[in-house]
Amino acid sequence: MTSAISRKRAPVAIIDVRETVVPIKSAISNAYIDFSQMTVSVVAVVTDAVRDGKPVVGFGFNSNGRYAPSGLLRERFIPRLKEADPLSIADEERHNLDPHKAWAVLMRNEKPGGHGERSVAVGVLDMAIWDAVAKIEGKPLYRVLAERYRGGKIDDRVFVYAAGGYYYPDKGLEGLQDEFRSYLDRGYTVCKMKIGGAPLDEDLRRIDAALEVVGSPHNLAVDANGRFDLDTAIAYAKALKPYGLFWYEEPGDPLDFHLQAVLPAYYDGPMATGENLFSHQDARNLIRYGGMRPDRDWLQFDCALSYGLVEYMRILEVLHMHGWSARRCIPHGGHQMSLNIAAGLGLGGNESYPDVFWPFNGFADDCPVIDGHVGLPDAPGIGFERKRELYEVMKPLEG
Ligand SMILES: [Mg+2]
Repeated sequence: MTSAISRKRAPVAIIDVRETVVPIKSAISNAYIDFSQMTVSVVAVVTDAVRDGKPVVGFGFNSNGRYAPSGLLRERFIPRLKEADPLSIADEERHNLDPHKAWAVLMRNEKPGGHGERSVAVGVLDMAIWDAVAKIEGKPLYRVLAERYRGGKIDDRVFVYAAGGYYYPDKGLEGLQDEFRSYLDRGYTVCKMKIGGAPLDEDLRRIDAALEVVGSPHNLAVDANGRFDLDTAIAYAKALKPYGLFWYEEPGDPLDFHLQAVLPAYYDGPMATGENLFSHQDARNLIRYGGMRPDRDWLQFDCALSYGLVEYMRILEVLHMHGWSARRCIPHGGHQMSLNIAAGLGLGGNESYPDVFWPFNGFADDCPVIDGHVGLPDAPGIGFERKRELYEVMKPLEG
């Protein structure tokens, strides 16, 4: 006999959050830093939801370029999440976690501004929560996002470009050419190289060497990693302009909106920036004051470094209000989280690091890059389990 009184289900609870630090050091450098000491935090959010006979565990990691925020995670953000009343982070209608509510719990008692690197700690946890949410729904994250926010429309394949061309010690022009040749062999069409770590004339020789391999200048992007003062940024702009490159990235300090706003007078080709802006307020300042052009420029905000997807959706809202399409976004980081966002929310593409930041680089093992585009696996969550070498790093956190 069934009871006439329907029992309310207990909300999905987070029963543990685990964190570990993993090196992603690489023998490379850009114009600003080398990556010899680089680390990432990997987190696992363990829930009491059960799928396929096992508790659902969501994973996250903090992209690359910022060090593992272990102190912040362990002292503030993980305790807040673990101590939260399950009801306070519940999506009761879907019997799931609510990432937006979890975000509010994480950011309780945090003052505005000064985003620093707490945005990285929150971004790691936000990624793990979204992974868990999609696994609880039994769907790939891109599908969850498309269904909730884009009327179900999914991009079957996403544009990706090969980021590399670093200043390797002992690697000359031939080494750069060999590297780019191997990216083309692996299905990429657009390659990106570093500039600003050498004098302008030497960088121009490197660009000429790269062009011999990639062919069209539309297939080559250059990245100064925020190195230049205004005079140097202008000198490079004048020298680069005749090439007609895919883009000229992050010429000056990420918060120097004046520098960015001056450059279009010297450079009419596409520019890209934003990977070191970590909040929707900073993104809004770039859009308001940075002179970025919605018809040609590219925005590279990386959700894993900037408070996660919950905040990234606020950035997309800011862009929408200022007349920008989400298609102008090609996030930094080369990770599967942004790839899911690109496919589910209709971004312009995603970065990829074919040869560095192992095992956090690249996408699902069974999804090759073809003609500069990559597909996504039909697997629940972000798809980490479909990338064997990365999952081997994450799996021990399942317990
Ligand atoms: Mg960059």
